[in-house]
This record gives sequence, structure tokens and C-alpha cells, in this order.
Amino acid sequence: MCPPKFRTDGRGPYSGGAWRLLQCNPLQSYALFLREVGNHYRTLTPARRTLPLVQSFFRKMDLLVSLESIDLDQSAILLDIDGTILDIAPTPHEVHVPPTLRDTLVRASDRTGGALALVSGRPIGDIDYIFAPLVLPAVGGHGAEIRPTPKHDYEMRGTALDRDLKRRLLEIATLFEGVGVEDKGYSLALHYRLVLEERGLDVVDAVFRICKDYPEDSFELLSGKAVLEVKSLGFDKGTAVRELMSYPPFRGRTPIFIGDDTTDEAAFAVMPEFDGCSIAVGRKVPGINGRFQTPNDVRGWLERLSRSESMVPPLVAAAS
Ligand SMILES: [Mg+2]
Repeated sequence: MCPPKFRTDGRGPYSGGAWRLLQCNPLQSYALFLREVGNHYRTLTPARRTLPLVQSFFRKMDLLVSLESIDLDQSAILLDIDGTILDIAPTPHEVHVPPTLRDTLVRASDRTGGALALVSGRPIGDIDYIFAPLVLPAVGGHGAEIRPTPKHDYEMRGTALDRDLKRRLLEIATLFEGVGVEDKGYSLALHYRLVLEERGLDVVDAVFRICKDYPEDSFELLSGKAVLEVKSLGFDKGTAVRELMSYPPFRGRTPIFIGDDTTDEAAFAVMPEFDGCSIAVGRKVPGINGRFQTPNDVRGWLERLSRSESMVPPLVAAAS
């Protein structure tokens, strides 16, 4: 039962919905929450009830039309890799590159005059390895490495991670079976997808406890899908994409950035500077233009794009 001071008449000093939710047990809270939502819905006029649905529909149609009519002579295509054009694998080195994807990327790159880049947390050497023999413009290490054209070596933008912090993080791999380590110099990634499920949170807790011992302005902690990465400051996908867009053949084009993870949000954030388009994969991200459901959907869209077939991408509006 609710405490005595709880009032059900909707009046008085403690009649606010939030207060009532705090005062009751979880089941009562849920019932009250539904009642609050119902009450709010009934206060809306019919027009205000349907307006969001109409707006969502037109946002979706706008995106479908704009993606269908992409002018590849004026566009740049920027693609995250893991979880975006490749399915997530148990470990980074077990990813599978579908046989047709390389050909698709080559055709799409040709059609954009070379303005197609891979933008990943992986080092560029790793990107080249998994897509070999294909070499594309790339951003690696979450922006620490940048290569505007395949003809040049990549340039470093990241500084080395604190040695003591790195040493202590490396010790975690010896404490938990299944933790995979990626030492990129400017960052250290700990993959815990293979750690027993009940111990995964212990890995996260251990990383957080170590990081607490260092000044917040000395590193950045990135959280991905079963991976934590601690990196030095001063670069991210956003800074790198901004720089990439200043080089030919990207300069002056309208970018379309597609990514699935929280680390891609830095790149989403710079798209408005170039009147560009942000598209997520899988999850909903506030304020972006749209969403693909799966990496397979992204690959299908790229395939149609590269062949200039009529495109009806399996997108859902971001706000839907
Ligand atoms: Mg990703």
C-alpha cells in the first residue's frame, strides 16, 4: 500500500506524478506511470496526437528521397567498419569480410571520385589487412591516424597514452580469462566479449577503478560493444572527419557518415558543418537523419548505390 500521505485525488501538495512514483512500490509505480501517460494523452487535441506521426512519416520519406537521389559527384561516403559494414565478431581479428563487399567498395569509391573513406577505431594497418588488397582513404584509431588518399602513408594525430595507466590496464588481462588486449600506442582497448557473462561487469569495474586514479583531463574512456578503450586526448572521429573533409577529393563534397557505436557520435556531430547526413546502424541516436537496421542493410544499400540501381534503402526514421 502507498504511505498515508499519498493522495489519489490528484490534488494537494503531493499530487505530482513524480512524487507518487517515488512513494509507491514498483508495481504501483508502473500502473501510475501508465495512468499519467493516459492522462497526458487525453489532454492533447486530435491534431497534436497525430502531428508527431505525420512529422515522423515525412522525415522518413525525406530521407528515402534524398538517399535515392544522391549525387555521387558531389558526395563523400564515410563508413565505420565494425557493426556498420561488417558484422560484429567475437574478437576483432575474426571479422568476416563478405566476398562481394570489396568489389562494392571499389565501385562506390570510383563513382565518388575516390571520396569514400573507412573511419574506424581500428589502426589503419589493421584496416588494410582485413580489406587487402583493397586500400582506401581511412581514419584509424578513433581519429589518431588519418590517410586522405590511398597513395600516401597515414599521419599520426594521437599522442602516446600514459605509460603507467597502460601498464595497470594491461594487468587486467592477466586477472580475467578471455580479455583481449589491443595496444595501439595512443590507446589501449580491452575486449571482454569472450569473458564469462557474470564476470564482464567485473572487467568494467576494474577499468573504472584504475581510471579513477588518474586526472579526468589526461585520458578518455570509450565504451563500445563488449570493449572498453582508454585513449589519450586531443582527437576523435569528429576531429579526424573534419580534417579529412579539408583534403581532396573530399573537400567541397557533402559527407554521408554511417556508424553504429557511441564513438561515431563525434563524427555525427560535425556533419552539420558540411551540410552532411548522419545515419546510425541498429540503435536510435537523437538528432541524426536516419537509421539502418543491420550491417547487411548497409551493404545492400552500398551495393545498389555502386550499381546506381533504384534505391529503396531499408531505413527507418531516426525519430520513429
Ligand atoms: Mg562500429
